[in-house]
Amino acid sequence: MPATGHVGRYAPSPTGDLHLGNLRTALAAWLAARSSLGSLLLRMDDLDPDRVRPESAAAQMKDLRALGIDWDGAPIWQGTRFARYDAALRRLAELGRTYPCFCSRAEVRAAASAPHGPGEEGAYPGTCARLAPAEGDRRVAAGEPHCIRVRANGATRSFVDQSLGSVSAIVDDFVVRRRDGVPAYNLATVVDDAEMGVTEVVRGADLASTTPRQLWLADTLDLPAPSFLHVSLVLGADGSRLAKRHGAVTLADLAAAGLGAVDVRDLLARSLGVEAADGAPPAALVAAFDRAAIPHADLRYEAIGDTVRLTPIS
Ligand SMILES: [Zn+2]
Repeated sequence: MPATGHVGRYAPSPTGDLHLGNLRTALAAWLAARSSLGSLLLRMDDLDPDRVRPESAAAQMKDLRALGIDWDGAPIWQGTRFARYDAALRRLAELGRTYPCFCSRAEVRAAASAPHGPGEEGAYPGTCARLAPAEGDRRVAAGEPHCIRVRANGATRSFVDQSLGSVSAIVDDFVVRRRDGVPAYNLATVVDDAEMGVTEVVRGADLASTTPRQLWLADTLDLPAPSFLHVSLVLGADGSRLAKRHGAVTLADLAAAGLGAVDVRDLLARSLGVEAADGAPPAALVAAFDRAAIPHADLRYEAIGDTVRLTPIS
């Protein structure tokens, strides 16, 4: 069992309504933090100006509160923290661990034929790592569009996940600053988790493939890294990641279908292996929570009549 007093965090992107899978992960993060007598931070990943919808953050917080999920302190907005991420980028550059990449998305896709895992931009084959530094500098100075990548030199990182067990992956030269100047998810996450003293990250298993990259970054920047618990995903009936088109998947949709917030909390808590009576208050769920009892299987969302089921996929 982990030590008591974890600092956890839930870090949604305010790009739309939270669906059952997001809410389940949030509940897991909250239960893990509270059951350790620790704290939970709410961090809004509002870095992507193309996708963020300002009204989404308020709606997400309202939904979390409706489920009894609370957090400590004010929400943290990554969009206000660019100076921190820029400082980390400068540090990486000083260490000789970055280079500019001029490849287009299509070029990266074409070159990255070997699927090393579903990373956010696919494994990068290192094309621009081989450019002479003077050539890179010249093209940057000429104003050629580019992102910034890490120079990982094919490093491997392993970690022991509390749910997935041992995970090991080659770290590719992933993006730390996008072509549009926005700090990349992996960089912002590592900087923030370290600076905010996060000791345990509970998040969806779809992000497990980013963890070796984040551990490499933390090592390289000499920052502490948290422990990880990746929880399984909720999938639609067609086996793809849950989305609006699968039916009543948001709290508002579910309420319209006759399933109130407490019913949804019961459903999600049961799916996390929490044995408690229907309508149990949040404190009772915390008391009954055992992270070792979280089922490992992904769940299939099924709406049958006016009930919703989350069925383990064997
Ligand atoms: Zn490139």
